[in-house]
Amino acid sequence: MEPIFERLKEKGVTLTPQRMAIVECLVSRHNHPTVDEIYSEIKERYPTMSKATVYSTLKLLNQIGEIQELSIRKRGEVCFDAITALHHHFLCKTCGNVLDIMLDCPGDCPIIVKKEIDGHKVSEVQAYLYGTCAECSKKESMQASKAGA
Ligand code: ZN
Ligand code: MN
Repeated sequence: MEPIFERLKEKGVTLTPQRMAIVECLVSRHNHPTVDEIYSEIKERYPTMSKATVYSTLKLLNQIGEIQELSIRKRGEVCFDAITALHHHFLCKTCGNVLDIMLDCPGDCPIIVKKEIDGHKVSEVQAYLYGTCAECSKKESMQASKAGA
């Protein structure tokens, strides 16, 4: 059993089969799925499940700090991440994938370390980076070299 289920039980969350399926889906995928993506993956096994159930379960898990919600897509849907430890995210503008960025920031990086900036109390740091992912960059340079040949 996933350790997250133990923690949810300790936090008093009722683990219905549907909720467990939603959690399992999110934990097993590392590609930051949206509500729609999670819903379409499990709806066949749980035909009575609604998109609203997926949404409310993810909201609950986010509220109790077991998952995080990302709004990296500026005008798009939010997506979800079962990894709550500090890391950053990269959105590829070509393929639309959201990738993890695990940076070893220097211990003196003011944005990570400062608990208060100009009187504002900082409780969380999350960087969103945008560009072209490694895979799309490779494809682009292959196409460019083919066109040049
Ligand atoms: Zn890409
Ligand atoms: Mn992530």
